[in-house]
Amino acid sequence: MRTMLDTHTANGYGSRSRGGIHSVLDIETALAAADTAAHLRDRIDAGENISGPAARRAITAAAHAPRFEGRLTSTKFAKQAAAHLARDGIVLHDNPDAYLICAFKRDTALCARTPDDTVPTLNDCRPGCGNAVRTDTHARQLRERADEIDQLAAHAPNGTRKRLHHNANRLRGTADAHDTTASKAEVST
Ligand code: SF4
Repeated sequence: MRTMLDTHTANGYGSRSRGGIHSVLDIETALAAADTAAHLRDRIDAGENISGPAARRAITAAAHAPRFEGRLTSTKFAKQAAAHLARDGIVLHDNPDAYLICAFKRDTALCARTPDDTVPTLNDCRPGCGNAVRTDTHARQLRERADEIDQLAAHAPNGTRKRLHHNANRLRGTADAHDTTASKAEVST
């Protein structure tokens, strides 16, 4: 829902207070962030390599992210969720459309729009951002998507075919960059 509204709109919805829709968004975003950290822990434990300018921060975040068991919600939990998201630089956000995990840090975010943003604008993710992190799973998904695009290109008219191949090659290039720069990590708790 935050992505559909986009962060700018969501942050400005209704009022500047953290009640109402803000609380709901904060709780859901915090739960999703905890899931993202848990999945990253699992991938690292499974021996996946990790790459990206924010890789070290992401490993630390994955090690120390809280687990929200049972998903009980209350006014207190809404405040905890907002406080959790405000920990600049060590909250992980899954961004499957960009094939990366975002370790959001406001100062280095290419998508951040206001000085008060505590979460990324995932649907405005920009290449070359200092908050990006990728695992071997992302590299595999990038190549799978590139293959799908090439298949689409085979049935497309000339101009479109060229553009699709270009996009597919760009995705493969991102996957290759991961392979070249990624290294193994350990999650120490
Ligand atoms: S541009 Fe950067 S901060 Fe924004 S979603 Fe992408 S990786 Fe995250």
